[in-house]
Amino acid sequence: MKRIDGEGIALLLDLDDCTGCFGCESACRETHRYPYDEDWMKTERRAPFLVDGKLRQYHLVAPVLDKCRACYNDDPNPLCVTGCPAGALKIGSLMDMVREAEGRHCTIFTA
Ligand code: SF4
Ligand code: SF4
Repeated sequence: MKRIDGEGIALLLDLDDCTGCFGCESACRETHRYPYDEDWMKTERRAPFLVDGKLRQYHLVAPVLDKCRACYNDDPNPLCVTGCPAGALKIGSLMDMVREAEGRHCTIFTA
């Protein structure tokens, strides 16, 4: 995984919206048909925890960013993003994703 350096593309995950449904993982596999011993996108469901007396549950997705960069170059609207039922995933330039994340609970992955 590369450090954030202001260049390249980024994937944004809205932690409040993601339901951990595994849809992006399936969409990536469906799109690229890679072998079953590879994972280009992995969803990790996390246990709930309390913040200021409120229950939160933040799941995580783990993209292989070199694959995402090539994928995005082929199709700027990959199925992992367009197929997310919660609209929790976005892809674009790092600057655009940083703007999108403003005021939201997000994770940004950069490639
Ligand atoms: S990002 Fe979307 S498709 Fe992926 S696990 Fe979260 S809700 Fe499901
Ligand atoms: S951008 Fe492409 S390679 Fe990356 S997780 Fe989505 S479908 Fe897979």
